[in-house]
Amino acid sequence: MELDLQPLNLPSDNERPFVIAGPCSAETEEQVMNTARQLAMKGCHNFRAGVWKPRTKPGGFEGNGEKALPWMKKVKEETHMLISTEVATPEHVELALKYDMDILWIGARTTANPFAMQALADSLKGVDVPVFVKNPVNPDLELWIGALERLNQAGVKRLGAIHRGFSSYEQKIYRNAPMWQIPIELHRRIPNLPIISDPSHIGGRRELIAPLCQQAMDLGFDGLIVESHCDPDKAWSDAKQQVTPDVLDYILALLIIRDEHVTTEGISQLRKQIDELDNQLMDLLAKRMNVCREIGRYKKEHNMTVLQASRYNEILEKRGVQGSLTGMAPEFVAKVFESIHEESVRQQIEIVNK
Ligand code: PEP
Ligand code: MN
Repeated sequence: MELDLQPLNLPSDNERPFVIAGPCSAETEEQVMNTARQLAMKGCHNFRAGVWKPRTKPGGFEGNGEKALPWMKKVKEETHMLISTEVATPEHVELALKYDMDILWIGARTTANPFAMQALADSLKGVDVPVFVKNPVNPDLELWIGALERLNQAGVKRLGAIHRGFSSYEQKIYRNAPMWQIPIELHRRIPNLPIISDPSHIGGRRELIAPLCQQAMDLGFDGLIVESHCDPDKAWSDAKQQVTPDVLDYILALLIIRDEHVTTEGISQLRKQIDELDNQLMDLLAKRMNVCREIGRYKKEHNMTVLQASRYNEILEKRGVQGSLTGMAPEFVAKVFESIHEESVRQQIEIVNK
């Protein structure tokens, strides 16, 4: 199905990409205002804060609900930034609109639920508000497109997508695996749909924000949504992944926005492949380390030594042969596996000494 889309028409400036920034959650009026004032001073045009927070388990901070909406309205009146929040039910939509929310977004858990998406779409009939749809938590492009289609059929034409990564069971570098090929495929299928990246929820750690922003820009994303808090370590939700408005400003200032027309299309396609393969390599390494820790636990239980030289030699020999069959220098393959082995042993020893 073709989507009937109109431009989002949201404020941005020429030097920087389109950015939505603000805390994960609206915690207190003071925290909201303090963060918003700092972001506005740094030239941010679009503010975000979660008013209703979906939490994995009960007992966490589930948002202030309606109580936080007047704070958001105050942000808009005082700083002139546009305000945005996550909506998950028709009641949220009604309340958000009552308080003049400018932009709505649908969270990853909601996108994954067609019943909830249909109810939201029905509640948005006849309303002209830009809506961003986050990818579903599971890597299912059809579910993502389906959610966009439901909204579009209800008449929402100012639509955007947010790539926030995909959850998985294994321990890994990213909180949510980026699987860049999925938003790339979304872009191929619906070329006029703006897609922005959410490095905060992909990375889950603040050190990863800058490289992920750069990667999104390099892949030609249309903008970013980044969590920013006046006092990140004290945040009531997602503390590890939030940055101060100052740090965010620094990250944005350092971003290299490449002119797609300068690099030849062929090279950038090849680079995308390299990035994707490197991501897969890193994921594979993380998986391998998980197995090593498992072996560590087994060896501990059975009182076995960590280092077993015969096994190590066998690995080096086999991988050396595999390497030379694909044209790689045996010294290179040996070096790679020595390093991997060294780290595997370190991880096992950590487990054994626990
Ligand atoms: C959020 O943006 O704070 C949020 C809860 O995001 P997601 O739906 O991507 O988990
Ligand atoms: Mn969050």
